[in-house]
Amino acid sequence: MPTISSNIARINESILEAAAISNFPEKVTLVAVSKGHSFDKIIEAFNAGIINFGENYLQEALNKKLHLEEFAIQWHFLGPIQSNKCRLIAENFDWVHSVDRIKVMKLLNDFRPSNAPPLNICIQINSSGEDTKSGIGMNDAQSHLMDLVSALKELPKLKLRGIMSIPTNTESSEQVINEFKSMYMLYSKLKNQIDTVDTLSMGMSNDFKPAIEHGSNLVRVGTAIFGARAMKTQGDDN
Ligand SMILES: *Cc1c(COP(=O)(O)O)cnc(C)c1O
Repeated sequence: MPTISSNIARINESILEAAAISNFPEKVTLVAVSKGHSFDKIIEAFNAGIINFGENYLQEALNKKLHLEEFAIQWHFLGPIQSNKCRLIAENFDWVHSVDRIKVMKLLNDFRPSNAPPLNICIQINSSGEDTKSGIGMNDAQSHLMDLVSALKELPKLKLRGIMSIPTNTESSEQVINEFKSMYMLYSKLKNQIDTVDTLSMGMSNDFKPAIEHGSNLVRVGTAIFGARAMKTQGDDN
């Protein structure tokens, strides 16, 4: 099955191309989004050089993590966060990209084991304005973000790395690009204020190239690496 490794090689090439034409000379991290895909596909991607993997559903992710203990993987949590999942998320992940409430930040901080390094977090911005999406609204993002940032002063087990967004699901590339531009503006303001901020998490299978051209330095790619999600990924409401 050489397809996963050749997909990754092609994506790495596209990332370099996009980075070369962007004005943002930063190294781009590729997170392989493995939700809905089996252990062996993760191992195949790992053997092709991927160390960052993203998952949306806690139970599914914990199962995989257990089976893949011997691999030095960095696990990224990308899904909506319910308060009752915060303990297991704080104990098992290296990054959380979908933080959007102070309550969740406090729980993640309190449950982060004291012998673990600080949990890397990105604050999710709802750049699309669609109510079905999580994240803090773009309209008052600046002030809202500052509220979350000041709460972080009391939360030493969290390390703020940046912001994340999922753009509007639309055929209009113009709309998506406007969202990327607003995200970049918000990110640069935040980066100027907070030393630990170095990550703009935006861009998925369909739009990682324009995202990088507009300043993203972490892309979350699933389908373009692994193909259509085969395994049913239901929520973990147990
Ligand atoms: C599923 C998912 C992705 C990957 O999407 P693809 O279109 O398969 O690349 C990226 N980010 C988040 C937050 C996701 O939920």
